[in-house]
Amino acid sequence: MKYKIPLSKPDITNSEKKAVAEVLETSSLSLGEKYKEFEKIMADFAGVKFTVAVNSGTSGLHLIIRALGIKDGDEVITTPFSFIASSNCILFEKAKPVFIDIDEKTFNIDVKKIEEKITEKTKAILAVDVFSQPADWNELQKIVKKHKLFLIEDSAEALGSEYSSTGSLRAKREKCGSFGDAAIYAFYPNKQITTGEGGMILTNNRKIAESCRSMANQGREKKNGKWLEHIRLGYNYRLDEMSCAMGIAQMKRIKEILGKRAKVAGIYNRRLKSIEGIEVPFVKSGNKLSWFVYVIKLSGKLSGKRDVIIKKMAERGIQCGNYFQTIHSQPFYKKEFRYKEGDFPIAENVSKRTLALPLFNNLKEEEIEFVVKNLKEAISLAQKIK
Ligand SMILES: *Cc1c(COP(=O)(O)O)cnc(C)c1O
Repeated sequence: MKYKIPLSKPDITNSEKKAVAEVLETSSLSLGEKYKEFEKIMADFAGVKFTVAVNSGTSGLHLIIRALGIKDGDEVITTPFSFIASSNCILFEKAKPVFIDIDEKTFNIDVKKIEEKITEKTKAILAVDVFSQPADWNELQKIVKKHKLFLIEDSAEALGSEYSSTGSLRAKREKCGSFGDAAIYAFYPNKQITTGEGGMILTNNRKIAESCRSMANQGREKKNGKWLEHIRLGYNYRLDEMSCAMGIAQMKRIKEILGKRAKVAGIYNRRLKSIEGIEVPFVKSGNKLSWFVYVIKLSGKLSGKRDVIIKKMAERGIQCGNYFQTIHSQPFYKKEFRYKEGDFPIAENVSKRTLALPLFNNLKEEEIEFVVKNLKEAISLAQKIK
């Protein structure tokens, strides 16, 4: 179905087109200057020492799991309320994802419930900045320090989000993607910036960075290595020069991009916050979101009406998302690990009640008004259905 207003839409200008076209004039289509430049821009942006560009966020997560030596029999504590890749990357190496229920407000892993699930098999915590909402990094850092675990940040949805450890508005904020031993960003077309497909590993640890770089490039040695010499098991997870050039062009516009997204979210907030049955996104004091999506939570009489509302909106040409189906309820997880309804009640409850509205950089004010008007009508129609 072709929507009048899609859920998301990449924002490609002449500067991206020109940047990609320029690469095509050269003979350097992989592992060239753009790759280095894109990595440098990302390291500076996030405030980390090392970055490795890869061909997807999922590839980045996989390499981090491997670089940390997580293997068969190990356990990694993570959230069931996320995109499936944040858990699959643990399965790639035959380790076991151990899910912890989420916080009702932030939709992120509930840090209070983590310690009871730590065993001698636990090697790491993999937390996700879901819907751009920073996880509770302060607490997570304390837990991993106490139990000597690794901390991994899946920041695929939070490029540009900022976290304040004290909650104070004046305190210094740090960028999501800079916490833990290593983190990722992702550049699929629905993310804040896109390279088509693409991802970035971020870390302050040189060894992790070097190991990831080598594994992304077929296990080649970092410098002086011969092209046909492979010192470890590797993959082809490289990001090509056209994608890097596009990423650079997008990052040159990052202030504009984040500003546009914040503006859309601000208008939604104002229009929706007083509607009964709708909870607008929670933002913890001191934090700043980069607005991957705009997700409302239905409550009260509207609780069970999410899918009806999505359908009514679709009939009017507006695409809404039912983010996220919990990971433990995905068919192959249920089969493989025998999860059942009720295992993670908060995540399940949130999952049934959350609804993503269209949000993209160039969503016009009149289009937002159109979405809001139709949402109100869809709600009153939905309420009439038993
Ligand atoms: C998008 C996303 C990923 C994966 O990124 P890809 O580039 O699509 O592989 C991982 N985790 C989360 C939470 C995501 O939203």
